[in-house]
Amino acid sequence: MVAQKINASDAMLKVMADWGIDHIFGLPGGSFDSTMNALHNQKAIMRYIQVRHEEVGALAAAGEAKATGKIAATFGSAGPGAVHLLNGLYDAKYDHVPVLALVGQVATGVMNTDYFQEMNENPMFADVAVYNRTVMTAEQMPLVVDQAIQQAYKHHGVAVVTIPTNLGWQPIEDNFEATANLFQIGNYPEPRNADIERALQLIKEAKQPIIYFGQGASAAGEELVALSEQLKIPMMSSALAKGIVADDYPAYMLSAGRVATKPGVDLATAADLILFVGSNYEFGQYFFNPDAKFIQIDIDPTKLGHRHHVDVGILADAKTALKTLLTASQPVANQSTFYKAAIANKANWDVWTASFEEDDQSPLRVEPVFKQINDMASADAIFNLDVGNVSIDGVRFLKMRPGQKMTLSAWYATMGCAVPAAIGTQATYPDRQVWSISGDGGFSMVMQDIITQVKYQMPIINVVLSNDSFGFIEAEQDDKGQPRSGVAIQGADYGAAATAMGARGFTVRTLAELKTAFAAAMGTKEPVVIDVKIANERPLPVEQLVIDEQTQDPEKVAAFVEKYHAQGLKPFRAFLEN
Ligand code: FAD
Repeated sequence: MVAQKINASDAMLKVMADWGIDHIFGLPGGSFDSTMNALHNQKAIMRYIQVRHEEVGALAAAGEAKATGKIAATFGSAGPGAVHLLNGLYDAKYDHVPVLALVGQVATGVMNTDYFQEMNENPMFADVAVYNRTVMTAEQMPLVVDQAIQQAYKHHGVAVVTIPTNLGWQPIEDNFEATANLFQIGNYPEPRNADIERALQLIKEAKQPIIYFGQGASAAGEELVALSEQLKIPMMSSALAKGIVADDYPAYMLSAGRVATKPGVDLATAADLILFVGSNYEFGQYFFNPDAKFIQIDIDPTKLGHRHHVDVGILADAKTALKTLLTASQPVANQSTFYKAAIANKANWDVWTASFEEDDQSPLRVEPVFKQINDMASADAIFNLDVGNVSIDGVRFLKMRPGQKMTLSAWYATMGCAVPAAIGTQATYPDRQVWSISGDGGFSMVMQDIITQVKYQMPIINVVLSNDSFGFIEAEQDDKGQPRSGVAIQGADYGAAATAMGARGFTVRTLAELKTAFAAAMGTKEPVVIDVKIANERPLPVEQLVIDEQTQDPEKVAAFVEKYHAQGLKPFRAFLEN
């Protein structure tokens, strides 16, 4: 039987829909006209979401893929549109999520003639992409996109398909079958008995063992808590793994590093054994006790020993390995001094941070802002955090519960990621409460896309913490003893700017104004921007000094405590000796 004919671009969109992609972010261009035409024809299966900058489209796709674990799509036209995609694609690459990027190209008849907007796109995407091809015939278009999606899933990365625009207009037979239903991932090896036995032996011998988990354990929240309870081991995680275990779980200390909590740093430093599950955390060498024994669970054999010496490597899926450890071990009856001290240390930290939640200094501290966010967040809220001091504050002060999600440009750390990721996550979860939480530096890089939120009536709550500074870099310059250079930024009234773009904007300076704005923002069906003028105060750098007059220079401790209002924080030693 002779198949019906269909334009190649339409056939390509049908393949994407078969893989579950039902929308794509981008901005039209002449070299992308055949696909724009197909997007018009195929609106029943593929929604086009028009962003105001291709970088925002690519970051939206990356953010969406982080929240869903599924492939998301973006596009840019030849030349500048393609170049603008790069930043978002690198973010997807480094946080290991699948993204498909369609890239426009001039027609084949004028390719290689230095034509208007023509550039050689494949070399530019060579480093970022796990799959990077230019289609050569119209008939290839559905096939190449099908392969691209397979590769993006297989390698948790970015697939780029470049399309000379004349090919998309050509009719081809409408008989291509996507491989979406056949494709399988996740057949991981079972952990080896010998490794499990050796791991349990080391845990038994340890006096101060901890569990450190990363986003590779995202499906294993229950098993982490069960193992922590069964073996009476406190836990901490990478920043990116926030939300896998409830933040108020008493034996979970959050992170180490610059975004650390004090109990997180204390735990990493004191541990004599680390059960490292599904993480590739790169700064462990600075924070983990160098003499600690190290057991690593990862599905990727190249990650075992990648960042740290390993005593036992377990090549397995985190959930399976943790279940095996649970079955193979006996419950520990008594809580150790270390376990009890860790819990008390965390409680002390929680009391200290809560003591600022009603602080009404003006400009405001950040704790009252996060108190409002936590109080108003729904059970299924999605928080999209930006890069900078706001990453520290968000990881520390958001009180996440299972069912909520967080996205962050974690490894690539590109500023301006929160507004786009909020657009990406709201597009895929229209009924969930979506937040973007940025500093003024990150927000002002992408704020034009508040217009996108308005256009698509996305009720995103955008919170901007404005301190008129690139605060994260300012702190780095201070630490290096160099003069502050280029870090002060021109302030603006982002609430008024948002109102001018059609959103509901608030600019607040006092605790009373903050509460009024949040109350007004809740339940609206339109995008909201709340610009909070905060003090340019550095978040407590818990990683820099152990607040303990017995082990540190008392004068330094006193100055540190005074500077960061850290009265009330007790040294971990005090809980261990209790
Ligand atoms: P990844 O790097 O993605 O590693 C995940 C690992 O899990 C991989 O090895 C993978 O192979 C494995 N895996 C995947 N699936 C499975 C599975 N099913 N079973 C087993 N293994 C699996 N982070 C901090 O922790 N502290 C900081 O102080 C900090 N500071 C930051 C500051 C800023 C401004 C920003 C933007 C980010 C910061 N980060 C910080 C983030 C940090 O840089 C890391 O990118 C992030 O924490 C790494 O998270 P991860 O190890 O969980 O994820």
